[in-house]
Amino acid sequence: MWLFKQEQRGQVDADLAVIINNIAVACKNISNLVATAPVRGLVGLAESKNKSGDEQKKLDVISNDIFVAAMADTARSAVIVTEEEDVPVGVDALSGDYIVCFDPIDGSSNIDAAVPTGSIWGVYSPGECVVDPDDDAEAALEKCVLNTRKSGEELVCAGYVMYSSATVMMLTVGDGVYGFTLDWSTGEFVLSHEDVKIPETTERAGRFYSGNQGNVDKWAPEMRAYVEHLQGGGGDGGGPFTYRYIGALVGDFHRTLLYGGIWLYPPDASAPEGKARLLYEVAPMGYMAEQAGGAATWGPLANERVVEVVPQHIHQRSPMFVGSKSMVEGLAEFLAKEHAK
Ligand code: MN
Ligand code: MN
Repeated sequence: MWLFKQEQRGQVDADLAVIINNIAVACKNISNLVATAPVRGLVGLAESKNKSGDEQKKLDVISNDIFVAAMADTARSAVIVTEEEDVPVGVDALSGDYIVCFDPIDGSSNIDAAVPTGSIWGVYSPGECVVDPDDDAEAALEKCVLNTRKSGEELVCAGYVMYSSATVMMLTVGDGVYGFTLDWSTGEFVLSHEDVKIPETTERAGRFYSGNQGNVDKWAPEMRAYVEHLQGGGGDGGGPFTYRYIGALVGDFHRTLLYGGIWLYPPDASAPEGKARLLYEVAPMGYMAEQAGGAATWGPLANERVVEVVPQHIHQRSPMFVGSKSMVEGLAEFLAKEHAK
């Protein structure tokens, strides 16, 4: 119903509405698989690796097939980029021209322990695909994604579905962030989070920080100093910040979206580019954070918006600092002061 209203208001066109609808269908299927994986024998490795070097779990492979098929079935997308395939997947010539990028299951290493996982996607505006006749089909598709300068500013829809104690879809089409909870009895996503805004961190609320603290010795010294600064109360008299970390992109982002605080995903000595992928993880989440009144940045001073990064590779990685606007801005101020020392 929400989607129909968005279409009526002109916030999404008919093609995008069909794409979003099919994403929802794909995620319902994946949710069911995640919830029953141990009884279906779907735990464990598929004995293959994806482009990013992650070991693929059986569910990575199956979920990818579901997601790709759901997108191809819409006949409204031109190119599909998925974490699980090295090259973009082209769709028939008769299809539309949206560029759909997704991670069918994020956090698949958590599945065997029933820790939250999720699917993340970004739908990029149609662009002109200038095809060089000398290119093979795969190179042509990759250029099609990259030539059209698909930074996060070109997103027309971003969202994720989290598979946790509830299956929740959070979505933006550029007019705020809305949340829908899957009602298993009817199989419908029902509007449950209206116009979500990331709470601002105050002396009393939203005092959370997150990130892989096990890596803190590999972070830049000023990032380590920032963590100590939060542990010491952040200088606002509110007491030490509470540390929360799941280690699953969607779960950590979802908590940050609803409870506020800051989530640190800096580069480190072993991953100088960061670990999360720009097109289908960082840019969609950055766009959602901004749509929810928060901020998402990167860079040595944490003052460059992640949605402005233009990808050079479809599986490009990016660091990210995301959360309550005041926290992300506070981090940038802190780093500026540290650098000036
Ligand atoms: Mn994945
Ligand atoms: Mn992922």
